[in-house]
Amino acid sequence: MMSQRPVIEINAVSKWYGKFQVLNTVSLNVAKGERVVICGPSGSGKSTLIRCINRLEEHQQGQILVNGIEMNDNVRNINLIRQNISMLFQQFNLFPHLSVLDNLTLGPTLVRKMTPKQATELAMHYLEKVQIANQAYKFPLQLSGGQQQRVAIARALCMEPEIMLFDEPTSALDPEMIKEVLDVMLDLAEGGMTMIVVTHEMGFARTVADNVILMADGRIVESAPPEKFFSQPEHPRTRKFLEQIL
Ligand code: ADP
Ligand code: MG
Repeated sequence: MMSQRPVIEINAVSKWYGKFQVLNTVSLNVAKGERVVICGPSGSGKSTLIRCINRLEEHQQGQILVNGIEMNDNVRNINLIRQNISMLFQQFNLFPHLSVLDNLTLGPTLVRKMTPKQATELAMHYLEKVQIANQAYKFPLQLSGGQQQRVAIARALCMEPEIMLFDEPTSALDPEMIKEVLDVMLDLAEGGMTMIVVTHEMGFARTVADNVILMADGRIVESAPPEKFFSQPEHPRTRKFLEQIL
């Protein structure tokens, strides 16, 4: 485990939308099993940064490597990297016309070429892990928001990714449902998943993160373990942000 190459290496990445610079020389390494929480004001580039990691967005300068493979316009590289990454969004993006079970078996049968029986076993395994196996035959819209997000996590897990990226996974949920989703994420973290989580759930950041990052204006302003981030942040911007949300 010692001095392994980081799973994710982001080196001086910049990106523009037209003339607007959304990412400004962002550098970040994430080790295997590391949990990084990214917070920061709306519009600071958090979503753009994590979307660049699996190339839902393209960066224009700098380098992104996943397991040493460079994310660039080489389709082979893109596909190799995407095999190892799952991304979760604020909106759950489940297929409404498919049952929960069918939402989960689709990827494994189409992409991973599993038999329906294998895919069903895998799906039930992960539905049990997120404690929702009893809803397998329902349709997404028959479930609560928290249940739907847990299904989305189970669906991501069916692809057995090495890395999971979360973009504000609880911000569309009613308060009473946030905990059930965070508990599933906590469980994943304890299982050793490499995770980057964009969230404003600072309780989660405190307990789960190895490193907490504040982004502002397309830059990483602060990056520190939670003990330091919350009690002795170096940058005034971090103090201001924490005052506003805590
Ligand atoms: P965050 O997730 O921190 O709220 P985003 O990464 O979504 O921030 O967006 C950063 C900035 O980039 C915002 O000002 C947003 O309006 C702008 N932006 C995001 N996506 C696009 C796009 N496709 N075209 C132009 N501007 C965009
Ligand atoms: Mg965002």
